Amino acid sequence: MTSSQDNPYTSSPWTGRFRLDGKVAVVTGASSGLGVAIAQGMAAAGADVAIGARRLTGLARTRELVEALGRRCVAVETDVTSVADCDRLVAAAVDELGGCDVLVNNAGVGGAYNAATEDPPEHFRSVVDVNLFGSYWMAQAAGRVMPPGSAVVNMSSVMAVTTARMPAAGYSAAKAGVLGMTRDLAAQWGSRGIRVNALLPGVFPTEATAHYSPRYQQKLIDARVPAGRLGDPVEIASTAVFLASDAAGYITGVGIPVDGGVLLL
Ligand code: NDP
Repeated sequence: MTSSQDNPYTSSPWTGRFRLDGKVAVVTGASSGLGVAIAQGMAAAGADVAIGARRLTGLARTRELVEALGRRCVAVETDVTSVADCDRLVAAAVDELGGCDVLVNNAGVGGAYNAATEDPPEHFRSVVDVNLFGSYWMAQAAGRVMPPGSAVVNMSSVMAVTTARMPAAGYSAAKAGVLGMTRDLAAQWGSRGIRVNALLPGVFPTEATAHYSPRYQQKLIDARVPAGRLGDPVEIASTAVFLASDAAGYITGVGIPVDGGVLLL
């Protein structure tokens, strides 16, 4: 029988399991879009945040938003296709914020919609380079220093498991690769107490989708989104925080769609 002191429902606030107080989160691609929301979500849950991307102006804005939530923030110019940059971002989290307990591999590019027969090799390579290889370099750097109780959240996409008839072979392949990497790292690091999961976003209004016309957006929603609307970046942020927190302590190696039901149709 558990004493009332050991009872998770009564001895500590239940909501404490969903918080990240005392932790340090590293978020890539935090200069725009979902990464900005994720950085704020991590801070709102109590974590200090190290952010990386190539555009320093965007990073500076995100840093202000994190600090406005009362948390510390370090911003590091990072190109995730560079192993040295990935190492530098994690080192900054450790040196300046005291550790690395959460990694959100959010940096990504959609690429162009090239028909397969005309897709230049350098385009396919560049999309895989950022979305898949970059996530692996970051995971390697973080995995070397993460203590037990840490968590990695990788950004995949519904495009990993379905298509939007874009065409987008490189993007779909890279995001499917992220799911494979997620499973493998979860298996490798399970005994170290490090969980590794992925998110599969549907359609969210960010720079990556800014070129969708209102007419195309509505067509997409009518045809593919049971929820009847685009996602709100805060809905990605809250799911990322959940996966990073002790509330998800027995969840590892899975991909969670955050898609308003896109994958149902
Ligand atoms: P944005 O284009 O708004 O943001 C992408 C972020 O990735 C930017 O901060 C960008 O920063 C960063 N980035 C791109 N290339 C690199 C690089 N080489 N090194 C470091 N950072 C890089 O897109 P979203 O916010 O929409 O996308 C975020 C993630 O969510 C991506 O992985 C995307 O594939 C995924 N996703 C998004 C969906 C959506 O509907 N929006 C749907 C499914 C998945 P900078 O340019 O400053 O380097």
